[in-house]
Order: sequence, then C-alpha cells, then structure tokens
Amino acid sequence: MDTKCLHIKQGGERLSREEEAGLRQAAEIIRGGGLVAFPTETVYGLGGDALNPESSRKIYAAKGRPSDNPLIIHICRFEDIRKIVRQLPEAAVKIAEAFWPGPLTMILPKALIVPRETTGGLDTVAVRFPSHPVAQKLIAYSGGYIAAPSANLSGKPSPTSAKYVIEDMDGRIDMIIDDGEVGIGLESTILDLASDMPRILRPGYITQEMLDKLLGKVDIDVTIVEPDSGQAPRAPGMKYRHYAPKGRLIIVEGPAERVIPYINGHAAENQRAGEKTGVIGTAEVLEQYHADVVKCIGSRKDEETIARNLFSVLREFDDENVTSIYSESFPAQGLGQAIMNRLLKAAGHRIVKL
Ligand code: AMP
Ligand code: MG
Repeated sequence: MDTKCLHIKQGGERLSREEEAGLRQAAEIIRGGGLVAFPTETVYGLGGDALNPESSRKIYAAKGRPSDNPLIIHICRFEDIRKIVRQLPEAAVKIAEAFWPGPLTMILPKALIVPRETTGGLDTVAVRFPSHPVAQKLIAYSGGYIAAPSANLSGKPSPTSAKYVIEDMDGRIDMIIDDGEVGIGLESTILDLASDMPRILRPGYITQEMLDKLLGKVDIDVTIVEPDSGQAPRAPGMKYRHYAPKGRLIIVEGPAERVIPYINGHAAENQRAGEKTGVIGTAEVLEQYHADVVKCIGSRKDEETIARNLFSVLREFDDENVTSIYSESFPAQGLGQAIMNRLLKAAGHRIVKL
C-alpha cells in the first residue's frame, strides 16, 4: 500500500487552504473504510471509522494488535457521546466539564451502534474528546467518531512524533498527517465509570490527585501501583507487553549516590564482556555516568519534559545496539505515576531497589 503524507506546517486553529483540503481528503479515506494516522495532544493515533467493524479490523491488522485489546473512540463535541453510550452518569458530565477537550478517556456502557470489533468484544466503550485542533477537524469531517489506538506497532513505544509513525506504519495505512512533535507524550488517563466507583485504569496527564479533587475519591487499579500484585489488570491492554526497547531495560531506584555507581559498575562490566550499555538519566547528574550511550530524559524539576521525552528516548535506543539500558526511577506521585507506569511496563517490571 502506498501511504500518503500530509504535512501540517501552519498548525493550530488556522490551517492553510492546502491543509484544509488535505484534511478533507483524509476524512474521505476514513469514511471509505481506510486508515489515517493523526496527531493528538497525547500521542499520534491510528484512526478509522469507529462505527465500521471492517475499519476496526484493519486497525488491529496494521498494528499487529491482539483483537481483544479495545480501541478508544474519539469525538469532537461533547453531545456526540450520547449516541455511543447506553448511560451517561452525572460523574461523566462533571468530568467532561472539567477535563474535555483533553487527555482523558472515559469507559462507559456501550450503545448497540458501537461494533464489538471496536471494543475488543466488551460491553463497554472508551470515549475521548481530544483538544488537538487537527484531530478535532479530522473527526468532524469524518462523521464524528474515529476509533484510534496509538499509531505504533503493537509492543513498541507510542509515537510522539510523525517520524516514528512513518517508521512503524509506512506501507500499512492510507495516510499519515505529520504535525511534528506532540505536546504531552504519554497516552490519555483512562477512567472507568462503568463500575460502582470511578477507577483509574491507566494513569496519565490528568492525575489521580486532580480526579480526587473533582470527584471526592477515585480508585486506582492495583496493578498500576503494585505491579507484582498477581491480579489480572482490568484495562485489557495492560496485560500485553508494551513500549519495550530492544535492549533489556532495568530501572534503578534509590539515592543518586548509590544509583550512579551501581549503573557505572554494570556498564564497565558489560564493556569487559564486549557489550554496549545505555543509560536514561536526568540533567542534574548526567555527566556523572560513564556508559556507551547516555541519554538525557530531562530535569528532575520538570516532570512534563520527562513525560514528553520518555517514549522517544526508548525508541532512540533501538538504533544504538545496546544490550542493556539502565534508567533512573521517579517518584510515583502526580504525573510521576504515569511516568513510572510506562517505564515499569517498558522494563517488564525489572526494578532494582538500592
Ligand atoms: P491505546 O490507545 O493504544 O493505548 O489503546 C487503548 C487502550 O484503552 C486499551 O489498551 C485499553 O487498555 C483501554 N480501553 C479501551 N477500551 C476499553 C474498555 N472498554 N474497557 C477498559 N479499557 C479500555
Ligand atoms: Mg497503545
């Protein structure tokens, strides 16, 4: 398949005439049952018509994704949620008022019109109203409902830039809309509103603290905070291998005075064995590392930058032929909860505590 590329240069609310025409063409592809990757404020999405089961089947095939891992339906007006959910609880309206458009997905009982192919066979549906202006226009022109998981091959880090979408999806989908780098860099917070108590299934930019403040108290899936709890995760996607770089990623937790010598010691040992080692470090201590490839994920004072850089740093290591990668650890509060959730998954939960 020949994958077209539409470059958004101007961006923002005001698109050029060519960009508008390109988006109309992208929408025609989606209406016709094809697939288009597009930017959102979180990561790039791989979009198809959410109400067309054939489109959802194509999404799973293009990603190599297991078909029981459900997709998120993206809308561009709050009212449009009514057609795809069976019930709209008061809490959902409150949450939408506070956080939509934005990086938050709600799980609600699905209406009959939503095909099971889109929900991975479930009776619930995931809904998000993104704030990215290009995403909003594409959804509106495509008929209002775009199913979109992240636009990466299954198992790889989510794409935070169009270049990574091209890397994974060129030749597999009809079009890629290139709007450079995204703003947030981690996927949306997923909040389950289909059970008795609101529960976070995936942490994200909208934090547990923010949701607690709005709703009183929200639960959080134990598999997020305690990865070795032995319980099956409730968000279906969470059971699959995720974000994993080619090298073996190990998180090292503890005070910097111990973490740095530990990592340097292992890097030296690997070097003697003829192997290359990578390090994911923070700006404050970066020059103290001695390893083959040392990458900066940002400053400890700026969690938003760490979140934005995480997936691209993981992807960059795939070009470096490192056999092991050591990463610093981060406090799992606020946005740190989402950062640690993704990092732990990428590491297959390998963590050394010093
Ligand atoms: P992605 O956008 O690639 O992260 O994929 C969407 C993720 O949303 C899936 O992996 C699931 O974890 C989650 N999800 C989507 N629909 C549902 C649902 N009905 N119930 C629970 N989780 C869902
Ligand atoms: Mg994904």
